[in-house]
Amino acid sequence: MTLVIAIDGPSGSGKSSVSKAVARRLGLAYLDTGAMYRAATWWCRHQGVDLADAAAVEAAVARMPLEMGVDPDSPSVHVGGEDVGAAIRTTEISTAVSAVATNLAVRDELRRLQRAAIDGEKLDGFSGGRGIVAEGRDITTVVAPDADVRVLLTASEEARLARRARELHGSDGAGAVEATRDQIVRRDADDSTVSQFHVAADGVATVDSSELDLEQTVNAVLAVVAELAPAAAPTDEVGTGRTDA
Ligand code: C5P
Repeated sequence: MTLVIAIDGPSGSGKSSVSKAVARRLGLAYLDTGAMYRAATWWCRHQGVDLADAAAVEAAVARMPLEMGVDPDSPSVHVGGEDVGAAIRTTEISTAVSAVATNLAVRDELRRLQRAAIDGEKLDGFSGGRGIVAEGRDITTVVAPDADVRVLLTASEEARLARRARELHGSDGAGAVEATRDQIVRRDADDSTVSQFHVAADGVATVDSSELDLEQTVNAVLAVVAELAPAAAPTDEVGTGRTDA
């Protein structure tokens, strides 16, 4: 059985860590679609493209030599052979990415690449045909509305701000939370103009991680998987992949 799991959520909901862990537990590939928008932003800047010039951004992204590594133990992003895994996580890229992600032609192109990655994993790919966990903002609704399991991972704004402040500044004190606000509140507001990721669409299960730690959140998502795709439930041994049925 092939399994496609789609996970969406706002910034700081924990979706990257949770999605990676779920993929590992089930022996699936892992696709970080946010990293693709970040890579597109990095590439445009690298090419000297003005992010306000929608046509130039579209043309640049259409010729972006992007390679996504989908091993959940070491996901990678290369553009033109260059490892941009660290470069796409800078504050500069986080601040600029919504400008690229709200370009509808860019969304069409990246959606096409994301769909190809998902369909490729169903046939063979990294997972050997077992399937994939794809996470982002519009995976449950636009990229893979046909996924076997669709989850919206939410958390209160307070929990998301505190989480990201600890990640970026090592503290969730008032100053660190304020410094993080642009990356959570403003970015999600901009992203919300093109994707709907605050309320679950029909048929999408909601997991609220506000009061859960990582392990508890992973288990909550695995419980949804067990309910919707019982044949894919993990074996006792972590990392052995799903049982064939
Ligand atoms: O998840 P992450 O913070 O890395 O996503 C970076 C940006 O990519 C988001 O702020 C959003 O602008 C964009 N994105 C998107 N659609 C997705 C995934 C990410 O527009 N499916």
